[in-house]
Amino acid sequence: MDDPVAGSDLGESICIGCGLCCDGTLLSHLAVSDESDLGMPLRAMGVELIAVAEPPVFELPCPAVEHGTCTIHHLHRPRACCQFECSLSRAVLDGEIDPDAARAVIARTLEVRAAVGDGQSPRTDLDQLLDRHFRASIHQ
Ligand code: SF4
Ligand code: SF4
Repeated sequence: MDDPVAGSDLGESICIGCGLCCDGTLLSHLAVSDESDLGMPLRAMGVELIAVAEPPVFELPCPAVEHGTCTIHHLHRPRACCQFECSLSRAVLDGEIDPDAARAVIARTLEVRAAVGDGQSPRTDLDQLLDRHFRASIHQ
């Protein structure tokens, strides 16, 4: 999330142009603490809190993500947006994978997602990539 939900400032963040954790590909919902945590920018975009959930959540895809990048990055975002790390972003931060290699993984995942959307690849191809590279150790 420089980012979509990963929110951490990675410099030349691998998150820019990814957005898989904001657009509903990796996660279906994002937890917030309350309405103030959700914040005005998202509320103005029509995002509503699902208050019956514990903790409260809002549904993804988030309307603030465009072309894999958060358009309200410099405004108020939910705390989870700043804290979320997928396995791939964690691995880059830990020096376990080169940022360019991580970007290649993201590019491949976006390609496969498009192929799934076009009916040219089975959904399991995408799930395997997500499980292997993005979900192995999710920190939220
Ligand atoms: S506000 Fe939306 S697009 Fe921005 S980081 Fe959070 S979930 Fe992603
Ligand atoms: S899925 Fe991972 S790499 Fe992609 S934007 Fe989210 S935290 Fe960043």
